[in-house]
Amino acid sequence: MTNAAPPRRAPDEPWRSEGAPPPEQPRRRMPGGWGGLIVTALAVFVLANLVLSYVNQRREPTVSYTEFSRQVDAGNVAKIYAKGDSIQGELKKKAPKPGGGDYTKFTTQRPAFAEDDLWAALTAKKVTVTAEPVVQQRGVLFNVLIALAPMVLLIALWVFIARRMGAAMGGGLGGGMFGRKPPPKPVEVTAGRTTFADVAGIDEVEAELSDVVDFLKNPAPYRRMGARMPGGVLLAGPPGTGKTLLARAVAGEAGVPFFSASASEFIEMIVGVGAGRVRELFAEARKVAPAIVFIDEIDTIGRARGAGGGLGGHDEREQTLNQILTEMDGFTGSEGVVVLAATNRADVLDAALTRPGRFDRVVQVSPPDRAGREAILDIHTREIPLAPGVDLGRMAAVTPGMTGAELANLTNEAALIAVKRGQDAVTQGDLSAALEKVQLGAERPLVMAQEERRRTAYHESGHALLGMLQPGADPVRKVTIVPRGRALGVTLSTPEADKYAYTEEYLKGRIIGALGGMAAEQVVFEVITTGSESDLEQVTRLARGMVGHWGMSERVGRLTAIPADPQQPYGLSAAPATLDTVEHEMRRITDECYESACRQLRENRDRLDALAAALLEHETLDEEAAYRAAGITRLSKDAS
Ligand code: ADP
Ligand code: MG
Ligand code: ZN
Repeated sequence: MTNAAPPRRAPDEPWRSEGAPPPEQPRRRMPGGWGGLIVTALAVFVLANLVLSYVNQRREPTVSYTEFSRQVDAGNVAKIYAKGDSIQGELKKKAPKPGGGDYTKFTTQRPAFAEDDLWAALTAKKVTVTAEPVVQQRGVLFNVLIALAPMVLLIALWVFIARRMGAAMGGGLGGGMFGRKPPPKPVEVTAGRTTFADVAGIDEVEAELSDVVDFLKNPAPYRRMGARMPGGVLLAGPPGTGKTLLARAVAGEAGVPFFSASASEFIEMIVGVGAGRVRELFAEARKVAPAIVFIDEIDTIGRARGAGGGLGGHDEREQTLNQILTEMDGFTGSEGVVVLAATNRADVLDAALTRPGRFDRVVQVSPPDRAGREAILDIHTREIPLAPGVDLGRMAAVTPGMTGAELANLTNEAALIAVKRGQDAVTQGDLSAALEKVQLGAERPLVMAQEERRRTAYHESGHALLGMLQPGADPVRKVTIVPRGRALGVTLSTPEADKYAYTEEYLKGRIIGALGGMAAEQVVFEVITTGSESDLEQVTRLARGMVGHWGMSERVGRLTAIPADPQQPYGLSAAPATLDTVEHEMRRITDECYESACRQLRENRDRLDALAAALLEHETLDEEAAYRAAGITRLSKDAS
């Protein structure tokens, strides 16, 4: 499958496109700029000098008048030709030249003060005095050519260098020394485009987009009805759920050109650059309309104004965003450019983006359900040979919450494992191993001191045991003290079935489980180590959500006390007293949970010890072994 981003046509284009017809060849501009001229002129000067010195070398040697007189007296001069005081001539026999070498033809200059009677001497020695130059002069044509040579060279060089530079720089300097861009490479129009067949598990979203496809494919009936397409469609959902894929599929399905850019790619530190790029992108798309313009990660520039952070400062973000809005306002449906955008955070977007006529359609893209996951696994194993008996449905069942991207990664890992094991097909075992690797991180060869290993065993046993003891908690699937990723050990719990809403009870259980590692170290060794850092991050996140977002604290009450956008300044959302209360309530909840964790571990010390011992012995326990070691029968198992 071709899921890689389409290639950029030129490095100075911040967007990518596919399916667009190759643009007409831009006129090759005459290379310009003073730099080019100077380089060329220098080169021509050197070359011209070389040529002239070569030509000059072939001229007859100049001899001194003294030498000439000697030759006349010796009767060795055959003929001469004189013009004014300058004399050319030819010897009868070669004579040695005073400077070295011999000569027969020569030129010389008769001094004006020479008192000799040259004519008498010449007639006495029977020298022919001709009317024709003895030394062949360069022809008129040749002279003209010589005069023109630098010009011709100059032009030839200029063109040559310009071409070379154009190709080498690839227009990379964006209109630097020589010309602007090389002609863009043509893009194949139809080869291997993504379609809805490559997307699974988000059928309701596909359905929402199918009328966009229909409009692009067949705009006539819509126009007859005077219907206007939505200005833009915003795809909102967690990363990896297939938003980018879906946008490409819409273009591929409709068979129209697809232009895509990430919003952050527009932004530079220079104010105004982003807006210019947006203008260019839309101009390009309008040329080949109907077309799709896709703006990925639009929240990087489309955050509610006044919210902090972001790239490149406020002005640049705002100008770029305004330019996008202007371009969208400028559309009439008949232009046939549909704008799709994607964001992980629809909740933080500026209201201006979602006004009617702009992204007035917001489509939620969610992680797939069980059937969806199976369909996605199907798609991503189309090109992977599967051993007979592989049950993708079973994989789908044990991967709740995983997104399309994670599932794609899972199948790829499985294929890699199969290759490493020297098999010629992927087995269920490879898929399980891949899932373990994806969920727990790759194993890390790390030699741990005995004491540290013991502490890790208790830490993980604490997580696992509390996970087993909390009513309604997700079952523990795996416990290991083999270091993986950044962790020294891992306890993995996944829900029995897809969960969409969480009770307060469940969340408290999660906090207790997450604090279990720290509590076990406290109860058994009475120390606190750095190993609980990520546990505490998780606890903080859960507690903040309970108090600030989900109305689970009586004292804070049923309101959103903390801004949804973590980038927004904390103080602006609520009165300082409220924030104090939030802080206080978060502490209360975690303190209560920690106490509960320690108490439960003390009460179940025998189970904790048994689980830790089993872990030290086997290093990794799967679901069944873990529950058996702890001596707990799973209650929910009978129910499911
Ligand atoms: P997003 O843009 O939502 O972060 P992407 O579209 O970039 O997610 O998804 C990344 C990859 O994950 C895709 O190229 C595809 O291989 C896979 N993928 C994600 N969702 C799906 C899906 N619903 N069906 C098939 N493949 C998917
Ligand atoms: Mg994406
Ligand atoms: Zn832990």
